[in-house]
Amino acid sequence: MEQNIARQVTRVFVEGQTSTTMANRTRPFNNRTCEAPYLIFLGPPGSGKGTQAEKLHQNFRLVQISTGNLFREHISNGTELGVKVKDILAKGELVPDDLTIGMVVDRLAKPDTIMGVVFDGFPRTLDQALALQYRLDEKRKCITAVIQFKISDEQIIERLSSRRMCPKDNTIYNLKSNAPKHDEQCDLCGTLLVMRNDDKPEVVGHRLQVYRQQTEPLIEFYREQDMLVEIDASRGIEEITTQMDEWMPMFIYDAN
Ligand SMILES: [Zn+2]
Repeated sequence: MEQNIARQVTRVFVEGQTSTTMANRTRPFNNRTCEAPYLIFLGPPGSGKGTQAEKLHQNFRLVQISTGNLFREHISNGTELGVKVKDILAKGELVPDDLTIGMVVDRLAKPDTIMGVVFDGFPRTLDQALALQYRLDEKRKCITAVIQFKISDEQIIERLSSRRMCPKDNTIYNLKSNAPKHDEQCDLCGTLLVMRNDDKPEVVGHRLQVYRQQTEPLIEFYREQDMLVEIDASRGIEEITTQMDEWMPMFIYDAN
């Protein structure tokens, strides 16, 4: 397994470019033999990854694999995994790799992933990234592109303080930029919105620190493989969605 990955990484590294903007790319993403787009959204908590992943689901039928949402489902269903991860998440710590990887692999096995996947909040560590590449390789699939959501810590802290979530369907709102129609109630089901435990200011600082230490090294890992493209995540939701819609055709495999 490891040898296989190392060879793959070296090959791409030799061919690879170091540019990360879409405009100065000389090689398209869709010349990889991926049948459906498998995208990774990489960015700190609060950078808007989840919202954009949800849009890709609505507009392009990609399945959103959000480890945060999957963990929260396990917690509210009281599964064995849920019991294990509850305290870890409440403290803003990383869930051990084996638990996270196992859960993602289970989700990937479901047939709806055939239209493509957007990974939101995964991988978070180099080991998770390698495990993902190995699993996809086995299924003759590959990561099409990695979108890096770039935004400052100050903007994140500001954003997360007004973020709310529907505890029933996980829909995310922002009281300032994406407010629900009625007070603090979910537009879809009317449930009273809540502030996520891990969005509380005392936890956010720690989550950002964990992100910088554990996940930021993945930016270089994917840049070296020429998979990375940056998006300015400080902009409004609509602007980013428009940008993503423009990029999508580049991520869809074209046999010609
Ligand atoms: Zn709801």
